[in-house]
Amino acid sequence: RQAHYARMRDVVPVTRDGHRITVMMNAGLRDDMPMLPLTGADGIGLFRTEFQFLVSATLPARERQTRLYRDVLEAAGDRPVVFRTVDIGGDKVLPYLRHNEGETEENPAMGWRALRVALERDGLLKVQARALLEAAGGRTLSVMFPMVTEPWEFDAAKAVFDGQLAFLKKRKKLLPEAIRYGAMLEVPALAECLDLLAPRLAFLSIGTNDLTQFLFAADRAHPKLAERYDWLSLAILRFLARVVRTIAPFDTKLTVCGEMGGRRMEALALLGLGITRLSITPAAVGPIKELIQQVDLGQIRAAMDDWLAHPPADIRQALADWASAHGI
Ligand code: PEP
Ligand code: MG
Repeated sequence: RQAHYARMRDVVPVTRDGHRITVMMNAGLRDDMPMLPLTGADGIGLFRTEFQFLVSATLPARERQTRLYRDVLEAAGDRPVVFRTVDIGGDKVLPYLRHNEGETEENPAMGWRALRVALERDGLLKVQARALLEAAGGRTLSVMFPMVTEPWEFDAAKAVFDGQLAFLKKRKKLLPEAIRYGAMLEVPALAECLDLLAPRLAFLSIGTNDLTQFLFAADRAHPKLAERYDWLSLAILRFLARVVRTIAPFDTKLTVCGEMGGRRMEALALLGLGITRLSITPAAVGPIKELIQQVDLGQIRAAMDDWLAHPPADIRQALADWASAHGI
């Protein structure tokens, strides 16, 4: 296993027909960073900043946030890091961040979470914006906002960053060389307005964990539902195909950062949909690079087009058959 890791680390993920696929890893702690050189991933496509908040007894002070982000950027060297602003609420409860008195949530996953919290408690987002902007002084900063539901939420969150940027500029602080703002696509409603938001997005990252929970109306943590709906279902694949089509005319980079991309058949399906940027759990980087080497992108794209137009009864089976017929 160790040897396999070492062998895959230096493999550049290029398909048989010569397409370079970007394979990044997901992280959330300083301790995750050594996995970057170990896996040879192309960067951190999702840094879950809420982990620092979750392991702290109190709200992490700005200096502590800055230190973490700077350490992460330093550890990444010249590889890109995408910081996701805090995604708390839902199943990630902070005891020190109180809801309004007496409010309990019946559906926390669809409740007061992520950007909804950050835009209301905007002191939280201001502090995080300042920490990120300072930590990335002299470098490129990539920021993405979780659970964007309507385009104005992206604009409001970016405005908080703009405010902090102006403040730092006035103070003659070292600013990031470039700042790229992106949104996560986790709420199906955003897909309906993507054409309006895309011109302002440097990138869009599809969070398939939450997205599928909302598409299927099925709690992602419910043990009885864990196996019920398949990522390789027609509904998801058609949904994703439409997102790919909508985003294509824009300069917005499209990534999948949910767990879906870390599984072989699912990754194959994503390639078939024309998604060429993945951010996945570190343990999956080697196996997915290996898969990419075995795939002809043109062929899987043609096969996927055909399945979407004339759906087989079982797409997972069709993919598995296709894979074995192509020596995968
Ligand atoms: C997702 O929802 O797919 C995602 C990547 O974010 P998280 O798993 O942290 O909710
Ligand atoms: Mg999510």
